[in-house]
Amino acid sequence: MKSSNFLPFALPDIGEEEIAEVVETLRQGWITSGPKTKRFEKEFAGFLGHGVEAVAVNSATAGLHLAVEAIGLGPGDQAIVPTHTFTATAEVLRYVGADPVFVDIEPETYCLSPERAAAAMTDRVRAVVPVHFAGHSCRMDKIVEFARERSIAVIEDAAHALPTHSGGKLIGTLETTATVFSFYATKTIATGEGGMLVTRDKDVVTRARVMRLHGIDRDAFERYRSDRPAWYYEVVAPGYKYNMTDVAAAIGIHQLRRAPQFHARRLQLAARYDQELADLPMKLPPRPPDREWHAWHLYVVALADDCSRSRDEVIQKMFERGIGCSVHFIPLHRQPYWRNRYGLQPQSFPVSERLFSRGISLPIYTRMTDDDQSRVIEALKSVLRSR
Ligand SMILES: *Cc1c(COP(=O)(O)O)cnc(C)c1O
Repeated sequence: MKSSNFLPFALPDIGEEEIAEVVETLRQGWITSGPKTKRFEKEFAGFLGHGVEAVAVNSATAGLHLAVEAIGLGPGDQAIVPTHTFTATAEVLRYVGADPVFVDIEPETYCLSPERAAAAMTDRVRAVVPVHFAGHSCRMDKIVEFARERSIAVIEDAAHALPTHSGGKLIGTLETTATVFSFYATKTIATGEGGMLVTRDKDVVTRARVMRLHGIDRDAFERYRSDRPAWYYEVVAPGYKYNMTDVAAAIGIHQLRRAPQFHARRLQLAARYDQELADLPMKLPPRPPDREWHAWHLYVVALADDCSRSRDEVIQKMFERGIGCSVHFIPLHRQPYWRNRYGLQPQSFPVSERLFSRGISLPIYTRMTDDDQSRVIEALKSVLRSR
């Protein structure tokens, strides 16, 4: 393997500012949740604007769990989720004893189909969890309207969606119950592990802050008993250990500052792929209307029916040419746990099946140079044109 010039599928973009801030954090001595985490929350909320509050956690999975817990989902309840997502979107429902109702995506956005979601509605459904796949917004006007009519919560899985627009507004600022971002190593901003729960709902913020750290309620006694000593605290629920460390927040603060510049680079890379891959036997990723931002976390092409090569062949040939590609996602209806527990059949999810069998995620990240991207383009052309 010529690993020296292998172009990996994804890489985080950690700069000198992040490194200096981490070193400063380590030297100064407060390494778990503290001032840096507070600052990251404040700056993240400020980045989105519109009066949102941000709760920093150690993963998006933790944030989704806290959101689902905060709205009181429990055994017997259901929530609608797209089948074409990472397992975290659905697993948090099982944490609280609720059940997902899996729904197909739509070819126009690769996101949850609002029409199919409406058709899948039952009287046990209390929430919908749309996923902004690849960084393309779901049709949120339809989903919000549908949820409002039926008085159910909307919890957005925005792991791919920093920054993404829907109807001219940033994801995170819509009229939904909560939105959860991920800072996992491969995401558009990265802290290694990390996530942010964002909401304007005071009850959700209060509950999430308590449950993120062992169910310890500091605000309650601080508000009513200012005479309490600093060591005193009260446990009001069996909470979790989901707090973000200041080491992670130190990275996040600078990643967030660089987010606009990261986004500009991703836009450039996506535009060049669009241009140079247009003549190949494949469908390019869906694009939002002109002024709407796509975060371009992923760039997913789908091989055409008349393409002579299979998805697996293309990925293998690209690998032989030193380029890492991936598949997003293995649909949840194909995963043994979900398939067996809910008796799921592939023919119920034709759009997801099609994207899974033909979709290839190409490398798209800020540390790629123009030359790196040329290599991907040339390799793909040669793989698809040979034979
Ligand atoms: C990455 C991802 C998550 C989980 O994020 P973590 O921060 O790793 O917990 C959830 N949903 C989707 C769609 C993701 O891609």
